[in-house]
Order: sequence, then C-alpha cells, then structure tokens
Amino acid sequence: LFITIEGPDGAGKSTVIKKLVETLSREVSQPIVTTREPGGIPISEKIREVILNPTHTMMDERTEALLYAAARRQHLIEKILPALDSGNMVLCDRFIDSSIAYQGAAREIGVKEVRQINDFAIEGHYPDLTLYLDVEASVGLGRINKGRKKEELDRLDKESLAFHEKVRAAYLDLLEEEPNRIKKIDASESIENVVNNCYTLIKETYPM
Ligand code: C5P
Repeated sequence: LFITIEGPDGAGKSTVIKKLVETLSREVSQPIVTTREPGGIPISEKIREVILNPTHTMMDERTEALLYAAARRQHLIEKILPALDSGNMVLCDRFIDSSIAYQGAAREIGVKEVRQINDFAIEGHYPDLTLYLDVEASVGLGRINKGRKKEELDRLDKESLAFHEKVRAAYLDLLEEEPNRIKKIDASESIENVVNNCYTLIKETYPM
C-alpha cells in the first residue's frame, strides 16, 4: 500500500506522519516505511540540497521542476518500489501532487507540462491513496513562522501569501479531478483529530 501525504506549507505533514505511524504500528501488522520528498535516499537528498539552497537564486523554474522529477524517480526506483515489493506499507511525505501544485500551478509552468515530466518519471506508479491535509494559506504560513530556521523563513517569505493560495487552489482542483485517490482532511483541527481522521480514511479505503 503506497500512501502519500500532501498539503501546503504549515499543514503539519511531518507531525501528522510521525503520530500516524505510531497509531498504525499499534494497529496494523504490516511493516511501515516512512520517507519524504524531495529526498528519501542519498541521491535525492543531494538534489533536495541543490533545489532548496537559498543561494541558488538563478535556478530556472523548469530546471527546478526537472530536478524534483529526477529526485522523485530515483527515490521511487531505489526505495519506494522495493519497499512495496517486499510487502511494506509506504508513507511518503509529498509526491507527484506537490509538483503539480507548486511547480505546475503556483510557479505557473503549467499543470499539464509538469504532469508530463512527472508521468515520464513515475511510469504509472501513482499512490494508492493520497491524504491531502487542507489548511488555508494564511493559517499554514502563520504556523510555520514558529520554530523554523532563518534561511527557510527567508525563502518562504519570498513565496508570498498569493503563492501559497495558488498552491492550495491547485490541491483543491486535484481533489476534484481524482476523488477516488485523493482524500481531504481538515488540517486546521487538533493534531489528534487530524491523525485519527487520517487513520480512519486509511482503514476505510484499505481494510487491514
Ligand atoms: O514538505 P517540506 O517542508 O519538506 O518541503 C520543503 C519545501 O519545498 C516546502 O517549503 C515547499 O515550499 C517546497 N516544495 C516545492 N515544490 C515541491 C515540493 C516542495 O516548492 N514539489
């Protein structure tokens, strides 16, 4: 079972994943592998450093989109597919939908174009289930101002509220297009509720 967690910045993905894995490990016998994008394996973590390096101000948007897709492919081939083949449940923090929302819609490269390069990269290996943690852009941005490193805040600052609103709108479009794969969870609720709702959705979709 391949599950991805998506959402705008500040939706609380990493905290939710940590707690969700605790719950799942208690309730399900299947081993769980958690991983993240961009990254998850050394080659893709190196690509992450290149993409997210604040000194790389000259980075072209299409170059960036190709790097995300390259990192995704290597991560899929080297880690996700082998883990699924050995019977693990895989929980991945971000996947193709992030590229559609951030590079395709918010950076305005085009949703169709970004989907094309990502379809080339993933060759049909879409997640079985995507948990989309929905939060208003202003709420998400408010949350991340707490407890993040300065370089990260500077980078996020440059990405205005309008940018994050575009990210969220793109996720909501994806949700409409693929209601069977993508499920929305209200991430403005308490962390316990969000985790419980994620767990219930997984169990409802894939009874174990
Ligand atoms: O989810 P995480 O906080 O690790 O993502 C790191 C940053 O990378 C996010 O702040 C997000 O803005 C950015 N990102 C992006 N395009 C993606 C994935 C992440 O711009 N496809």
